[in-house]
Amino acid sequence: MNKKTVRDIDLKGKRVLMRVDFNVPMADGVVTDDKRIKAALPTIQYVLDQGASLILMSHLGRPKGTGFDPEFSLKAAAEALGKLLGKPVQMAPDCVGPEVEAMAQALKPGDVLLLENTRFHKEEEKNDLAFAKQLATLGDVYVNDAFGSAHRAHASTEGVARYLPAVSGFLMEQELEYLGRATDNPAHPYVAILGGAKISDKILVVENMLAKCDTLIIGGGMANTFLAAQGYAMQDSLVEASSVETAKAIMAKAGGKLLLPVDAVVADKFDAEANSQVVDVDKVPAGWRIMDIGPKSIEKFGAVLKAAKLVIWNGPMGVFEMPKFAEGTFAIAKLLADSGATTVIGGGDSASAVKKAGVAKKMTHVSTGGGASLEFLEGKELPGVAALNDK
Ligand code: AMP
Repeated sequence: MNKKTVRDIDLKGKRVLMRVDFNVPMADGVVTDDKRIKAALPTIQYVLDQGASLILMSHLGRPKGTGFDPEFSLKAAAEALGKLLGKPVQMAPDCVGPEVEAMAQALKPGDVLLLENTRFHKEEEKNDLAFAKQLATLGDVYVNDAFGSAHRAHASTEGVARYLPAVSGFLMEQELEYLGRATDNPAHPYVAILGGAKISDKILVVENMLAKCDTLIIGGGMANTFLAAQGYAMQDSLVEASSVETAKAIMAKAGGKLLLPVDAVVADKFDAEANSQVVDVDKVPAGWRIMDIGPKSIEKFGAVLKAAKLVIWNGPMGVFEMPKFAEGTFAIAKLLADSGATTVIGGGDSASAVKKAGVAKKMTHVSTGGGASLEFLEGKELPGVAALNDK
């Protein structure tokens, strides 16, 4: 990685302003899943061990941007972090303003202050530079460890980096290193797997992956549009009619690199309790729809995965939220776990699929950022990364 990290600067006695992703699920004022808080701990602990004080900031949910709203307060996150650190974490009433500035000034080495939700100010999402400057006055150094928000040019992820020395934390560094394996000098054979509902959301990823990988496997609802472009009757399956021509062009360019399902689990309605059967993709019965890839497709994809040195996966192979149609997705997860390849899982649905399949720990890397990992795989430079100081 060509960006500076916390290891590259002197933090002793400094006030470190750090963007984290504490956008955690909460119920009744308590954090119900502290995974994202735990993911930031290595950087938090390192900064404190260097003799710095720490000012943390994050967004939570989608408040209106018109000031404090208890529903979107980060207070419960401060309590959860305090428990993990074994010491109190102070909670600020806001993320900018004289009272918060005084609290930041009063911090001693080892102290931790969590700012209130940055999205209580509409200036955050507008990347308003006067607001970013106000955030920057709180610290001497800026650290970004919020990979999941790095695809957004907001004041706390991008603007603030213009006013302070700006470096990455360990989580950000790890994400960029592993996802970077998909885009810079990948190991071969390199297999990319894309799935999910729509091709229109992932055209750029398809094109970028095709340029880099040896084989691109496409499953999920996305595959239907390619199969329709080959002339198969998809009946009631999800097909994006407006993307059929794009699919044709991609197939013409991809040649033998592109692998599509040859059979499917079809259902007579979009329902967890629907009747289902396995058919070849040229035999989807009228009134039925494709819900998952079938056993022959799993075998076909598995043969390629066995030989792979690097596999990148983004998007489920079927409607995996319904147990009856989750088998294809889980089978791919297990094939990856046993492949011996470096396996990198994009965030969002694929991350929850490997977890549900019980094989998350066997993956080389499971990204914490859904949207961010997808934009990274499109080959875009993420604004929150671009803003950091070069090595
Ligand atoms: P995405 O957000 O584009 O990655 O899409 C994820 C969604 O795609 C999941 O909610 C799946 O249920 C859905 N999906 C996967 N395969 C199919 C399919 N064959 N038909 C309809 N939806 C699907």
